Order: sequence, then structure tokens, then C-alpha cells
Amino acid sequence: MHKLLDACLDRMAGYRDLPWQPPGQMDIGLGKASERQPEGTVFDVMAQTIMPTATGNTHPAFWGWVHGGGIPASIGAELVAATMNSNCGGRDHGAAHVEAEVIRWLCATAGMARDAFGVMTTGTSQATILALMAARVRRFGEGVRETGIRDLPPVAVYASDGAHACIAQALEVMGHGRAALRGIATDARGAMQLEALQDAIDKDRAEGVEPLAIVGTAGSVGVGAFDDLTGVADLAGSEGIWLHIDAAFGFWTRLADNPWHALSDGIRRADSIALDAHKWPGVQYDCGACLIADRDLHRATFASRPAYLESAAEGLAGGDTWFTDYGLELSRGFRALKLWAAIQTCGTRALGAAITDNCRQAALMGEMVEGSPVLKLAHPVISNVCCFAVEKGDVSRIAADLQLAGQAVFSTITLNGTPCLRAAIVNHRTTEDDLRRAIAAVEATQH
Ligand SMILES: *Cc1c(COP(=O)(O)O)cnc(C)c1O
Repeated sequence: MHKLLDACLDRMAGYRDLPWQPPGQMDIGLGKASERQPEGTVFDVMAQTIMPTATGNTHPAFWGWVHGGGIPASIGAELVAATMNSNCGGRDHGAAHVEAEVIRWLCATAGMARDAFGVMTTGTSQATILALMAARVRRFGEGVRETGIRDLPPVAVYASDGAHACIAQALEVMGHGRAALRGIATDARGAMQLEALQDAIDKDRAEGVEPLAIVGTAGSVGVGAFDDLTGVADLAGSEGIWLHIDAAFGFWTRLADNPWHALSDGIRRADSIALDAHKWPGVQYDCGACLIADRDLHRATFASRPAYLESAAEGLAGGDTWFTDYGLELSRGFRALKLWAAIQTCGTRALGAAITDNCRQAALMGEMVEGSPVLKLAHPVISNVCCFAVEKGDVSRIAADLQLAGQAVFSTITLNGTPCLRAAIVNHRTTEDDLRRAIAAVEATQH
């Protein structure tokens, strides 16, 4: 175990020199599962065969999709959490207290009212399902838990064209179907057009379709755009519609300096927020949260403990906060500790500074692109995402070549019909030099 820990720490210290590499043929077959292998051998296979085949998002020039970079303190927290092996579904023990504290901190950081609460989740996808289920109970009452959607009118959820696929997926899971999602047109900066939103709501109401929720996006996965959350909150308020905010990574602009801080102004007015700690703050996978302004409603949406899980006044079965009452999982791990450790060891000032840095870097990459004769900026840089087209060649090929060479990881996106390279910078290890080298490598493919 000590040797294994050293191997982990060595790898962590060398992240900068360890880009993604193709996993190739891995000798990890479980064909001999009936025979016991010595732990030393198994640990060696983990350290030498499996660990080097990581996704590579710990590397400073990994900007594909939105993958957090990982931070040391959370590795320590994972070790402690695994050693405790707590089941955070319920009962009175320390892990539940840590989770409650982390949730309260997240709610306060969002600026939500004092009685807001929430639950740690695997990520934003799961949190979105929880949030929209709570919206449904508010709109149609708790009876929907008994009878399902059988007696409900058709419903609609409104989100920007650039909203994440997890919203349609949540509607699928909830039985309303993906067609219940109304994609609202965006403006030149990628923000949902409020007039188009109002028109869509009016049209649905006229046709007997019940608006279930408006989803504001704080940081769109494609281009890093932010909806005008204050404007969206005003509209949701005047229409009496639940406001959910997908703040998977954009939530963390709450810790950044202006102008990026202001992008998420208005988030405090949400009825629910979904966010990820495994993206921008770099907390190890998986770690997300669902925050809900109305704690009683949240609990009423999910609580359903059978007799064998009843709480007691005292002892281990005590405690008035059982997280199983706030979501879909009964048995659940101690996800909160790694975020708690990240906040404590980094401090919010340094976390915020890293987020501000990443936004500055995306803006700088945008300037490099605009200064290049062979690259073309495809969307204004709003936060930490930079998307650009190339003059020659296939962007998928270019992205794959740079990945295979270990130079940089871009992902690809098609914007207004133009295939682009896309960088989403969420790594505190990224430096300006990393940007310059990567842009030079892209330019080199154009000669
Ligand atoms: C990543 C992401 C999601 C999905 O979150 P998971 O943690 O992967 O489930 C949703 N919305 C946005 C904007 C995202 O970036």
C-alpha cells in the first residue's frame, strides 16, 4: 500500500509530462479470476499498466470537452473516504455532517436564501433529474409520485439552443419525452433570447401545454455562453414558472473576478441549481450537486423510507438529515469530503484566482487566433471556452493528430455549419506557454 501511494504521488508530481496516450493492448484480463493473485502483483498492475492509461485531463494542455484537472488534496480525501467507507444515504455520522456543511457552503456561495439545501450527486446530469422532479411536484403536487404522469397535461421545459443534452435526457427519464424540450434561439453572444422565450411560453399556454421549468444556462458546454440570468429570473417570476440553472462549470464564476463574476449574477434567484465540482475546481470524479431553494419541497419530492429505515431519536439511526430523502440513491459514497478538502486547502481566493486565470487564458487564445493568418475565431470568447476554425484540413484529423502526438487535446464542434476546434480551459496547471505551443502546433498543420 505504501509503494502504491508513492506511485500515485510520483504520477501526480509528473502530470505536466504525462499527456494522454492510447491505451493499446492492456494485459488486465480477468480470465484467471478464480485464482487469488498476490496483492503486490495486483497493485503493480494498477500502478504500471492501468494508471498510465488515464484520460490525460490532468495535463495542462488538455482542453477537450470540459474535464477537470484533479487536485492533490482531493486524492487525500478519497483515501480517507475509502478508509471510512461511510454510507451517506442516512444515519448519524460524521460524513453526513460534512456533506451538510458543503451543501450549505454551496448554497451560500450561490447567494440562495438561508433555508436552501441540496444533495451531492454524481454530476449535473443526475442533479438535473432531481431538480426537474422537484419542479414537477411543486407544479402538480405530491400526488404525481403516486400516479406518475398518467393524469398530467403535456408539459414543456424551455432552455437555450446551446443547453446541455442532459436536460432532454432528464425529460426522457421522467416520462415526458425529449420533445417536451423547447430549444430557444440565442443571440450573438450565445445567450437565450428572452423575447423568443416569452413567445414559446405564450404559444404553449395557448395550446394547453403546461410550462414545467425554464432552464437558464450558466456556461454552455459548446461555447461557454451565459444566459442573462437576471432577465430569465424576472421572466420566470412573472410567469410563475420554476427556474432551474445548469451551472455545471459556470457556477464557479461566483468565485472569479469581474467581468466573469458578473456572468452568473442572478443565479441566487434560482429555484434549483445543478453544478459540478469535478470540472472547474478540479475535484476528483465524480462530484456534483443539486441545490434547491425550497428544502421542504425537495424532501417531499423524494422521501420514502420504508419501516426498516426509520430514524431513531438517538444513536446511529438518529440525525434529522438523511440524504436518501433528497435524491434517488439509498446507498451513496462520501463525495462531499473531496470538495470540502479542496475548499479548505486551496481557499476560495486561490480557487477564484485559478478560474479568473482560465478565463483570461481563453481570451488570450482568442487574441492569438485573431492574430493568426490561418485561424478564424468562430464565436466570441465569453468565459473559458475558445472555438476557432482552420483554413485547411479536417478539424477531427487535426485534433486526433495533436492528441496522438501528446501536444494538446482540443475537442471539435460545428458552429454555424463550420467545423471548429474547441478549447475549454478548466485546469489550474495551464500556462500561457501551453497556449502558445498549442496554437503554434495547430498553425503548423496549415503549411
Ligand atoms: C458537463 C455538463 C453537464 C453534465 O454534467 P455531468 O457532470 O457530466 O453529468 C451539464 N451541463 C453542462 C453545461 C455541462 O458542461
